[in-house]
Amino acid sequence: MNANLYALFESAFPADRSACCIESHLGQYYSWDDIDRASAGIANLLTSLKLDKDARIAVQVEKSPEALILYLATIRAGYVYLPLNTAYRASEIAYFVGNAEPAVVVCSPKNFGWVAQCAFKAGTRHVFTLDDGHNGRNSGSLLDRARHQPDTFQTVDKQPDDLAAILYTSGTTGRSKGAMLSHENLASNAKVLKEFWQWQPGDVLLHALPLFHVHGLFVASNGALLNGSKMIFLPKFDTADVIRLLPRSTVFMGVPTFYSRLLADPAFDAAACAGMRLFISGSAPLLTETFNAFKRRTGHTILERYGMSETTMLTSNPYDGERVGGTVGAPLPGVQVRVMNQTGEECATVEIGDVQVRGPNVFKGYWRMPEKTAEEFTADGYFKTGDVGKFDARGYLSIVGRSKDLIITGGYNVYPKEIETLIDDIDGVLESAVIGVPHADFGEAVTAVIVAKPGKRFSEAEIISALKSNIANFKVPKRVFFIEDLPRNTMGKVQKNLLRDRFQAA
Ligand code: AMP
Repeated sequence: MNANLYALFESAFPADRSACCIESHLGQYYSWDDIDRASAGIANLLTSLKLDKDARIAVQVEKSPEALILYLATIRAGYVYLPLNTAYRASEIAYFVGNAEPAVVVCSPKNFGWVAQCAFKAGTRHVFTLDDGHNGRNSGSLLDRARHQPDTFQTVDKQPDDLAAILYTSGTTGRSKGAMLSHENLASNAKVLKEFWQWQPGDVLLHALPLFHVHGLFVASNGALLNGSKMIFLPKFDTADVIRLLPRSTVFMGVPTFYSRLLADPAFDAAACAGMRLFISGSAPLLTETFNAFKRRTGHTILERYGMSETTMLTSNPYDGERVGGTVGAPLPGVQVRVMNQTGEECATVEIGDVQVRGPNVFKGYWRMPEKTAEEFTADGYFKTGDVGKFDARGYLSIVGRSKDLIITGGYNVYPKEIETLIDDIDGVLESAVIGVPHADFGEAVTAVIVAKPGKRFSEAEIISALKSNIANFKVPKRVFFIEDLPRNTMGKVQKNLLRDRFQAA
């Protein structure tokens, strides 16, 4: 049997292929036939480039039905899909293309100049834009070119272990790791979630998540594709659009920020949600306050689940049983999750420890980082998630924090070290610490604490504007504070917990 993920989707296409697969926010309809033909055209074009079998196709484009078609075409043609956050700027893209060495880079027409420069420098031979607006040197609209290709394509045969995608876990130069996911990783998780969340005939997914992240691409899109369900695509989350479209939908997936924003709008009410079957939250902790307020306002109980780029989904609150706020539910079928203490034994119920996981969904390792990969797996094959959690008596897991200092803001990961390095480079800065402090809207807000050199003074705005031109907006600190000294323990480590306590209410 062909283990290609696209072959699995093909087997789930509805009998009526003229039915709608994707409805865009502009009201355009893409039938299952359209998706099949358009992905065949792009798959033919990619194949005509005579790429290596494991060629990476790196993609930094705005969300659109065409972006999803490009993902499907890449998988179908047997290449490795590598999505990149649309917020990344030149220094970040240069790192990713240098590290991944993609054979093909696809970007938005408006970014062609600088993306192509990064890509060609890294040795990439083909750079395309995703719509037909651009015809610069060495460029070309991917869709224009694909239109001249046949619209049928024999899905390439793949083994379960063959690579389907690489997801970079953060944007930190030198630290960002490419998680290698196989066809089997993605297929097994999609199948488990279809059963576990009881996807049904007639389901319609309101899709407001980005397509470059595990949540929007593998959980949301793969889920709908495997169920032969229609998706309504929003280019980005917008409260008014979501409220307008919920009555035509049955399933919605979001990061916690989406839910707090919906609740902040008085127009969001039980009537808007009357036809909904399921609301799912993940990618960052959902506040119990939001969970309860949502239930009061709409009568719906949000189903919270937990997962990560390296593993796709790991645990979930039940579809039928009790969904408990503040927990991420029990391990999904086929997935093993354990919580370990410092001495390497399994923790007792409610005892806090390191979360480790194993299963068919767990990635193959970090791209070209065998040592890092070896460090993150135990001798018995469990992946160390870096999350800290505990099981309750029901067997539900709660995530209580992260062993590293990763900040999650609006569902996006920010590694403090990257921001600290940039701040420390500013003339007159002695040192800095970047922390996450609780934020009602973003979950956590990136916050910088800076020690200036003697005689130097900065304003908060000066620091923020110096950073803005270098990094994606979501990484720029929301607040900047200045202090005399950073608190340190006897080993010389900065005590970030003390900084978090001090600045969380500021
Ligand atoms: P990413 O790889 O971007 O999906 O980030 C994965 C990380 O997000 C996990 O390791 C967790 O720290 C966090 N995460 C995902 N889902 C949840 C959740 N429901 N509750 C708390 N943290 C979560």
